[in-house]
Amino acid sequence: VTPADSVLHAFRAAVRTAPDRTAVAYFDGRLSYRELDALSDSVAGHLAARGLERGDRAALMLQNSPHFVIGLLAAYKAGATVVPVNPMYKSGEVTHVLHDADVTALICSDRAWETYLRETAADSPVRIVLTACELDLQTRGDERVLKFERVEPQAEDADDLLTVARQGNAAPEGRDPGPDDIALISYTSGTSGTPKGATNLHRNIAYNAERQRTGLGIPEGATYFGLAPLFHITGMVCQLVSSFANAGTLALAYRFEAGVVLDAFAEHRPAYTVGPSTAFMALAAHPAATRAHFASFDSISSGGAPVPPALVEKFRTAFGPYIHNGYGLTECTAPCATVPPGKEAPVDPASGTLAVGVPGPDSVVRIVDDLGQEVPFGEQGEIAVRGPQVVPGYWKRPDATAETFPDGELRTGDIGFMDADGWLYVVDRKKDMINASGFKVWPREVEDVLYTHEAVREAAVVGVPDPYRGETVRAYVSLRPGASVGPDELAAHCKERLAAYKYPREVEILPELPKTTSGKILRRELRSRERTD
Ligand code: ATP
Repeated sequence: VTPADSVLHAFRAAVRTAPDRTAVAYFDGRLSYRELDALSDSVAGHLAARGLERGDRAALMLQNSPHFVIGLLAAYKAGATVVPVNPMYKSGEVTHVLHDADVTALICSDRAWETYLRETAADSPVRIVLTACELDLQTRGDERVLKFERVEPQAEDADDLLTVARQGNAAPEGRDPGPDDIALISYTSGTSGTPKGATNLHRNIAYNAERQRTGLGIPEGATYFGLAPLFHITGMVCQLVSSFANAGTLALAYRFEAGVVLDAFAEHRPAYTVGPSTAFMALAAHPAATRAHFASFDSISSGGAPVPPALVEKFRTAFGPYIHNGYGLTECTAPCATVPPGKEAPVDPASGTLAVGVPGPDSVVRIVDDLGQEVPFGEQGEIAVRGPQVVPGYWKRPDATAETFPDGELRTGDIGFMDADGWLYVVDRKKDMINASGFKVWPREVEDVLYTHEAVREAAVVGVPDPYRGETVRAYVSLRPGASVGPDELAAHCKERLAAYKYPREVEILPELPKTTSGKILRRELRSRERTD
């Protein structure tokens, strides 16, 4: 069997292989591959009739739900490129994306349309609007409430996604995107300048979705659980498209909420999931979590954010599964290094860093200096990647493309090294290095030590300006439920285990650390935080 070379190719193969298998499960609802095919055909027919043309851009701004999946497939069947937009984005962020990507069609929740998107889109290229009533989940105290958010009456200037999906329209003919067409324009979060859109081609996605499935040895038809958001590249590739490639079932639960996710594990008995390490920390800290919740898993992966070695051990001891690390970024369409099945990532004895995995068979990873020259073996340098998952560049940004992809090789901005057995280690992001009295301090190393303390739930370390040292090391920590420890004890815990210039001179305990919607701890927000002591 030839592996799929586009998202639709993977989906259509699953429709042929297992038409009656559940493709998407969502709370009590189930959609088979056959149903999903018919519903997305109908929406594609509608989009084409409304004037969406091959190569146009369709923005998809929804939480994890069947509506997201229908919208994605419909856009591809109509020949469009999809621009995933984080539903938490505010008007200004959405405006940039709609204009920059020249978006013609917008698929969003009806609540967002009514409350601010109508106004935001008014002065944009958007001409076609589909809104979806999403099932929202809200937590009030200990009670979880499922709530339909339909805004009545239905807007006159937008069509309802599910109504259109049930009209039975035929999809337009001959619009399927090819392997070299742009499947996604994935906007970076803009930590370094205005957000740029990485252009993930269909073949980039199909390759990594297939690698994820074969690399982890996931059996055909297995149930995946969607911990990561689908609007983020990891969720899209390693969950949704990988599940298509596997003719599998994808169980979704709107957005991440630990208690709901544990209930959904019990209900759907998933074999595989991938999420940021913070999701596993939240699951592990939940009072209701038991080994039984994780008994169905063959494989658990953590991707897109650092994995503290202490988390892997605590998780295995308490719940059973081993968390496989995985390294990737949007520009290489999610993973480029993973821990092979049956293997465990080693911890570097010198720094205590957990390996992120070994590069895939078709990828070439080099460790380079600022000029792009390979550094001597074992030394630290910037991680550079070539491979079938690396995107050709940024949307309409030749300058940024030339800088980040010299000769087509991706310069990741991450500092790392390789060991003699070919394991790759990520030290930290180049831009997060702390310069304390001229000594280099990598926040990750200090965070890993904080995570070895029993009371610590989340930790983030940043450099803050200091009149004597230039920068000083400051740690922010949140605690496990019921734990009690003071800043001085945590500083002392680090001082015992780290060189004098590395341990945090300042520790602040917060109820929770700020995170992106994809679950990453936001060091930049902490860096600009006012001191409260
Ligand atoms: P932006 O680039 O817009 O600031 P972002 O960097 O969070 O956003 P992503 O592409 O989602 O965008 O994240 C990729 C980054 O996440 C990598 O460059 C790396 O710094 C980090 N990362 C991913 N996986 C791992 C891992 N297993 N261990 C350590 N760091 C990781």
